[in-house]
Amino acid sequence: MSDTQHFDLIVIGGGPGGYVAAIRAAQLGMKVACIDAFKSKDGGKPALGGTCLNVGCIPSKALLDSSRQFHNLTHGFADHGISASDAKIDVGRMVARKDRIVKQFNGGVAALFKANKVTAFHGVGTLHAGRKVSVKGHDGKDATLTATNVILASGSVSIELPFAKFDGKRIVDNVGVLDFDAVPRRLGVIGAGVIGLEMGSVWGRLGAEVTILEALPDFLAAADADVAKLALREFKKQGLEIKLGCKVSNVEVKGDEVHVTYSDGKADQSLVVDRLLVSVGRRAATAGLLAEGSGVKLTQRGFIEVDDHCHTGVDGVWAIGDCVRGPMLAHKASEEGIAVAERIAGLPGHVDFNTVPWVIYTEPEIAWVGKTERELKDAGVPYKVGTFPFAAIGRAVAMNETAGMVKVIAHADTDRILGMHLVGANVSELVHEGVVAMEFKGSAEDLARICHAHPTLSEAVHEAALAVDKRAIHKAN
Ligand code: FAD
Ligand code: NAD
Repeated sequence: MSDTQHFDLIVIGGGPGGYVAAIRAAQLGMKVACIDAFKSKDGGKPALGGTCLNVGCIPSKALLDSSRQFHNLTHGFADHGISASDAKIDVGRMVARKDRIVKQFNGGVAALFKANKVTAFHGVGTLHAGRKVSVKGHDGKDATLTATNVILASGSVSIELPFAKFDGKRIVDNVGVLDFDAVPRRLGVIGAGVIGLEMGSVWGRLGAEVTILEALPDFLAAADADVAKLALREFKKQGLEIKLGCKVSNVEVKGDEVHVTYSDGKADQSLVVDRLLVSVGRRAATAGLLAEGSGVKLTQRGFIEVDDHCHTGVDGVWAIGDCVRGPMLAHKASEEGIAVAERIAGLPGHVDFNTVPWVIYTEPEIAWVGKTERELKDAGVPYKVGTFPFAAIGRAVAMNETAGMVKVIAHADTDRILGMHLVGANVSELVHEGVVAMEFKGSAEDLARICHAHPTLSEAVHEAALAVDKRAIHKAN
């Protein structure tokens, strides 16, 4: 073992929580080390960026975009008078493009570390008592580090069902589903959550018959009910077979096929597919992270226990991102990373969970911020609602993307915006009107009085805000 090196801050995990925290702390003048265990696909090299960059947000969006282009070519262009015959998808090339994008950003994070003088360690970090961290280097070299503060940002891993062990080929998680070598004829998905819908869309658009089995009776239970209903209708039109209220009891690989047994509440059913994606949620990644005596506690569900400020209760030890409570979103992890780095520097870092936006990158896209009607009803908060459909928006019609709507929810007495729920084209961008308005404690009246360019999709946000007070112009109120 080499001599012990001391840092102001050690970050364990180089995902969007960890690498962002490391950079912000370095900007604030700290001497920072970041330990990350992720290995690149091509030969196990350092691959900073975590789940999000390597096997999550970015590669999934690369494939979503490729498959969207293909789907438009085969299904959408004819209406515009554009014809193309014999369209083909080269899956190898599509996956290679995705890999190039990932590699480009792996290099980007490494370059940012260099520019900010963050010392990177490629290996597994373990926290011991007294803020001592041991590193088991992937190159065989071990190190011992100490720090005034440590941030745990180890992220999450897929939950495995005991009867459907991942084999990386027939039964896959988010990693395998990004790297199929051909379009499966039949793709089964367990779990109609974010990953199931996004990855089901990718392979469905490329021609796979996709069947999604969801345990809950409600589709997208966390989303606004009207948004979920509208999205479900569109997904069904696209050919995604979504079966709700299904309890999977067995999965068996038989030759080239995967046989799935499930109950739909009435009887046992079977589904035979060529590949099966299991996307039933993720759990905190804590294996090997905490040595005995570290003092850091885990919750019953296996997350690292933290207070509202991401402090673990152990002096100088913090935890952020997917390994702690709260939504498993890259931007939530990054915001927590920035807030903790600032708190360590004596600044007032803060994250408002109520204004963290959610986006599902299907087609139509789904996005929301703040409370749903159901949540407000349950909490007894009086509210009023304004909605507006994209079908009445000139730009959406010009784009042939008329499915969807915007819903603005405001407090019945104060008019303050409590939530915004959107389904439609580009709503991943539009939702930020709601985020900004809510961050500034804005009212529906504020949004209604803001001039929106014509013709844009954002006019649907404007009209929905006007509709809260029953004065939308382009629909009967
Ligand atoms: P991670 O990104 O998981 O990073 C943790 C890092 O720590 C990893 O590199 C891991 O190898 C490393 N590590 C773990 N333990 C140790 C250790 N002991 N020593 C050293 N290193 C260690 N979120 C969005 O907001 N938008 C999206 O579009 C989106 N799409 C997604 C698509 C998929 C398919 C998946 C799986 C997730 C997606 N997410 C998305 C969620 C997002 O990826 C996570 O919320 C985000 O990556 C969490 O960041 P993190 O830094 O907490 O953890
Ligand atoms: P999820 O929590 O979004 O969805 C899991 C779904 O599986 C739920 O609908 C759940 O009811 C269902 N389920 C659970 N057990 C089941 C079972 N035994 N049989 C059938 N259905 C079952 O989880 P995910 O899709 O695995 O994604 C994990 C996390 O990654 C999400 O929480 C999300 O925060 C993050 N993510 C975000 C994005 C994005 O922001 N666009 C994209 C992908 C992933």
